[in-house]
Amino acid sequence: MTEFLQACRTAIGAAHVLTEAGDTAGYLTDQRGRYTGRAVAVLRPADTAEVAALVKLCAQYQVPLVPQGGNTGLVLGSVPDQQGNAAVLSLRRLNRIRAVDTVNNTMTVEAGCILQHIQEQAASAERLFPLSLAAEGSCTIGGNLSTNAGGTGVLRYGNTRELCLGLEVVSAQGEVMSSLKGLRKDNTGYDLRDLFIGAEGTLGVITAAVLKLFPQPRAQVTALVALDTPAQALQLLQQAQQHCGPALTGFELMSDICLRLVCKHFPEQRLPFAQHHPQYVLLELSDSESEEHARTLFESLIGEALEQSLVNDAVIAASLAQSRALWELRENISMAQAHEGKNIKHDISVPISRIADFISTTDALLQAASPGCRMVTFGHLGDGNLHYNVSPPLGVADTDFIAQQAAINLVVHDSVDRFGGSISAEHGLGALKREEITRYKSPVELQMMRAIKLALDPQQLMNPGKVL
Ligand SMILES: Cc1cc2nc3c(=O)[nH]c(=O)nc-3n(C[C@H](O)[C@H](O)[C@H](O)COP(=O)(O)OP(=O)(O)OC[C@H]3O[C@@H](n4cnc5c(N)ncnc54)[C@H](O)[C@@H]3O)c2cc1C
Repeated sequence: MTEFLQACRTAIGAAHVLTEAGDTAGYLTDQRGRYTGRAVAVLRPADTAEVAALVKLCAQYQVPLVPQGGNTGLVLGSVPDQQGNAAVLSLRRLNRIRAVDTVNNTMTVEAGCILQHIQEQAASAERLFPLSLAAEGSCTIGGNLSTNAGGTGVLRYGNTRELCLGLEVVSAQGEVMSSLKGLRKDNTGYDLRDLFIGAEGTLGVITAAVLKLFPQPRAQVTALVALDTPAQALQLLQQAQQHCGPALTGFELMSDICLRLVCKHFPEQRLPFAQHHPQYVLLELSDSESEEHARTLFESLIGEALEQSLVNDAVIAASLAQSRALWELRENISMAQAHEGKNIKHDISVPISRIADFISTTDALLQAASPGCRMVTFGHLGDGNLHYNVSPPLGVADTDFIAQQAAINLVVHDSVDRFGGSISAEHGLGALKREEITRYKSPVELQMMRAIKLALDPQQLMNPGKVL
C-alpha cells in the first residue's frame, strides 16, 4: 500500500493524497451520518488526465475505488465500506465550465461542478439549466449524472439523463472515452452515455458532460392549493396539464402532517390558510409569455377547481418572496422530519394513475403492521414519485421503531411491486438497497446488469458493493 500511495503522490501531488483521519473524515461518513466507512486514502485529482492516472494505479495495485462528488447521496453509494482497502476518488477539484454554446444550447462542464454554480452560469448566459433539488448548493453534476437525479423539474424537463447530450468517462482500465460533441442526434450503435448515467460509479468515472440548456422562462408563478385526498390531487394534475400544457413545471403533493412538522420545527414558517386540510399541492408555472399570462392561467385553473369542489382553498404567490416561502414549506419537510426524530424513508414510484390507490392501500397495510405510525408522505406527484416516509407512533421510542425497519420496508416495497412500481425512483440503489432489489428485479435483468459490469470492470474495482 505504501508503494501505491507514493505513486498517487507522484501522479497528483502529495497535498491531494489525504490519509490523516482529520483530513479524510468528511469523505467517509454519509450525508445523514448513518454510516462511516474506512479508506486507504482520499484522492483529489485536478483534471481528467490525473483521474486516468489514478484509475490506472488502482487497477495496477488492485485498489477498489469509490468515486465521490458532493457526498449528498442518500443510499450509501459515495462512501467506502468497512474493509479499509478502498480509495475515495473525490471529483470536486474538476470544477471548470469548459464551454457555453448559446446557439447549440449546450454547456460543457466538469464532473465536480456544483449544480447551483451550473444553474448560475447558465442564467448569466440567459439560459436555463433546469435540474433543481434541495441539495443543489453542494451536490455535483457528476453525482447528479451518476444517480440520474430527479428533483422538482422532472415533470417538464425530465431526469438528469434527459438533460445530458454526452459524457467524458475514465474507464475502469484508466482509458478516456469522450463523447462531448453536443449532438442531439447520433445513432451509431450502443448508447454508452446512457450506460454510465445512473451507474452510481460502478462502471467508470464521469469526468465531464455536455448539458442541455433551455430558454429562460419570462415568469415563474407558484400556487399552493388545499384539498382532501390524493385522488383529488391526481384529478387536479390532469386538469392542470390540460390547462397549462408545458408551462406546468412543478406539481408537488404534501400531506397535512408534513406541513404541521415544518411549522412546528421552523416556527417562522406559516401555513397560508386559516385552517389545516388533509392534503396540499404546490404548483409551479414557468411561462414563456409573461407573469400576467401565468397568473391568468392559474386563476382560471384554480377557479374552475374551486367551483368543482376539487380544491378547498388556494393561494397564488404575489411576489418572489411569497413564492420562495411556499417552496420552503416543501423543501423543509425532510429537515423537519429529521428534527422530529428517526424515521423510515422510501423513495418510490408507481404509475401516476395508480398513486392514490397505492397510498390508501399501503397506508392501511402499515397501520395493521405498526398501529399509529405517522405517514409523512410528500413528493413529485407529477412524476409518480413519492417520498413515502414513516415516523413512529407518538410515544414510541425511535430505536424501538427503527428495529422494525426491515419489516416495514417489506410491507412498503412489496406493495410498490404489486402496483407495478420501483423501490428507488430517484436516489439509486447504492449499498442500501442492493440486496433488496434482487427481490424485485427479474433474474434476466439482474443477469444482464452483471454481464455489463463484468465486461466494463472485469477486476470489479469500481465502487464495489454498490448497485449489484
Ligand atoms: C436535502 C437533500 C435533498 C435531495 N433531493 C433530491 C431530489 O430531489 N432528487 C434526487 O434525485 N436526489 C436528491 N437528493 C440526493 C442527492 O443529492 C443526489 O443523489 C445527487 O445527485 C448526488 O450528487 P453528489 O454529487 O452529492 O453525489 P455523491 O453523493 O457524491 O455520489 C452519489 C453516487 O454517484 C457516484 N459518483 C459521484 N460522482 C461521480 C462521478 N463523477 N463519476 C462516477 N460516479 C460518481 C458515487 O460513487 C455515488 O454512488 C437529495 C439529497 C439531499 C441531502
